[in-house]
Formats: sequence, structure tokens, C-alpha cells
Amino acid sequence: MPNLRRRAPARVVGDYFHLFVNRRAYTLQSKRPHRPGGRHYYYRPKARKTGQGLSLTLDTIRRHLEGEMTIGLYAINPASQCSKWVAIDADYEDSFADLLKLSFHLRQDGVESALENSRRGGHLWIFMAEPLPARDCRLYVCGLALRLDIPVKVGRQREGIEVCPKHDVLKPGKYGNAIRGPLGIHRGASQRFWFDGAGEGLEQQMCYLNSLPKMTGDELARLIAGKPIPPQLQAPEPKPGPAIWRPTGGPEFRILDHINTKVRTVGHNNVTRCPSCAEEGHDRSGDNLSISIQDPRKYICWAGCTRDMIRAAVGCPRPIQRAFYGPKKEASNVEIQC
Ligand SMILES: [Zn+2]
Repeated sequence: MPNLRRRAPARVVGDYFHLFVNRRAYTLQSKRPHRPGGRHYYYRPKARKTGQGLSLTLDTIRRHLEGEMTIGLYAINPASQCSKWVAIDADYEDSFADLLKLSFHLRQDGVESALENSRRGGHLWIFMAEPLPARDCRLYVCGLALRLDIPVKVGRQREGIEVCPKHDVLKPGKYGNAIRGPLGIHRGASQRFWFDGAGEGLEQQMCYLNSLPKMTGDELARLIAGKPIPPQLQAPEPKPGPAIWRPTGGPEFRILDHINTKVRTVGHNNVTRCPSCAEEGHDRSGDNLSISIQDPRKYICWAGCTRDMIRAAVGCPRPIQRAFYGPKKEASNVEIQC
């Protein structure tokens, strides 16, 4: 493997934070591939002692840029429901042509974009002069794509561009989608991907990104004025509420009793789609959730969903009173050997 390490000067780190970081929560790409599938998963890093999610710092960014680790960045700040950027991800056949078409028409609207190469296709980035509502950003970008006959991936649709942020609004406690932080090392491909428009170096790349004109709130308001929400992007009909869970037959929670996705056996575990990931449209390959065969009380999501998130997603959140009235009945969510 070529030496991918670079030095990230403090100014580059600061500029990167300013340009890309919407919130302090972040994800980390696993350094080693996970079986099954050999993929490098993203997960929420946690403090060993407290189990609290780690917060992104300038040092995290420095280590990402220098190649020590690879982080994923969330698209929406939950406090403001705003985003500093829109990233358009396209990885289907001919997707590069669609990104170029989008870039051309964005420029016709007076919006500059930056094309980041990726393993397949690329990511087209639009940066805002100040954080702007995710809903408005999506309305503009998705609306433009649909007017250009470029497919937008919504729900289960297989092919099309993915627009990040993927949500108009984050529900309380939700994180939405993260995207691999640019300029770091893609662990799966073992390489860095650069933006077109500048040389291959952290300083040149940041200098280029800094120089791009950023979209202002006034510009965005003008671009979406009078444009209705395309029917494809309307929120789906609300799902019927989850059935009320009543403990039956025993106090122990067994996740398999609450799952109706296809379950495969891999080694010592059952493997299926993580219900919490599924809520965010993730884990389409259906292998994030591992459930121990020997002890079906034990399960883990490789993407980092917590027990509370998973249990909420299957409609039977953990009863709070247990913490006060007795010992925990559920075995802890221990790491399962691959
Ligand atoms: Zn999950």
C-alpha cells in the first residue's frame, strides 16, 4: 500500500472544520473489514469508560486529514435543522455524466459546486455561506435534478443520485445520514480521493474549496421561490404506530421475536438488517445486525446503533422502570466475535 500519510497544518484543519462540520457527533470507518461482506463499516465512536458518543474536535479532523483514521460527517445540525453543505452522491453507470450536467445547470443558477472523485462516480458538493435549512437545500437540489430528468434515490428506488442531507428535518435523538469526510483515506479503496480543480495536496485542496463562492440564504430563497415540493419528495404516508409491546412469557427480550427481515446464519451468529439502520434507509445489504445464536439475548449493530435505538425501532423500547426496580434482565449488548 502506498504511503498515504500527509501532514495537515493547523490552518487547513481549522478551515476544514469551518467548512464541513455541522455537529460534533461523527462516525468512524472501521480500519479492518468486517465479515460478512468484507466492508469497512462506519460506527459511532464511544468513550470506553462512559459509553458516551465522542465529540469531534480539531484533533479528530487533523487525524482524519493526516490519514490516521477516516471519519463520516453528519449533514444536519439538529439544533437548527440546517446544513453547511449539500453533497450529491452518484455511483451508478453514467452517473459521472449526470453530476457534470448538474454542475453545469447549478452554475447557470449562479451556484458553484466542487466535484470530488470517488471509487465509483463522484460526489458533487455545494457549500453555503451560512448554515441553511436542510429542507430548502433539498428542495432546490432535488427539484433541479428532477427537472433535468436525473433520477433521485427516494426510499427503495434502486438507482439515482443520493442527496445528503437526506432528511428535511431530524427527529429528536436522530442523526440522519453521514457521508465520508472528504480528503481522508477511503479504507475500502485504500486511497485518497481529491476534488477536481486543484492539485493533490491538502493545502491546495482547502485553498480551492475556500475560494469557491458559497450560496447565501437570499440566493437559495430566490431559487426555490414559488417552486412546489416535487411529488416524488413528499413525505410518505405515516406508518401505523408500532404495536404496543407487552411482556409475554418472561422478562427477557429476544430481538429475533421482533424481527421480520430475512435472517441468515454466519458463523456463530444470525445476521439481518438492523431495524434502526433501516429507519434511516441504511443497511440495504441486510447484514449490520448480528445476533448470537448461542445466546439470542445478545445482539449488536456494526454501524453503531445502540440497544435503545434498536429497541425503539422494533417498537418495544426498554422499560425505564427496570433501572429503578431491579437488576437488568437483559444481557448486555456485548461484542460478538466475527
Ligand atoms: Zn444499526
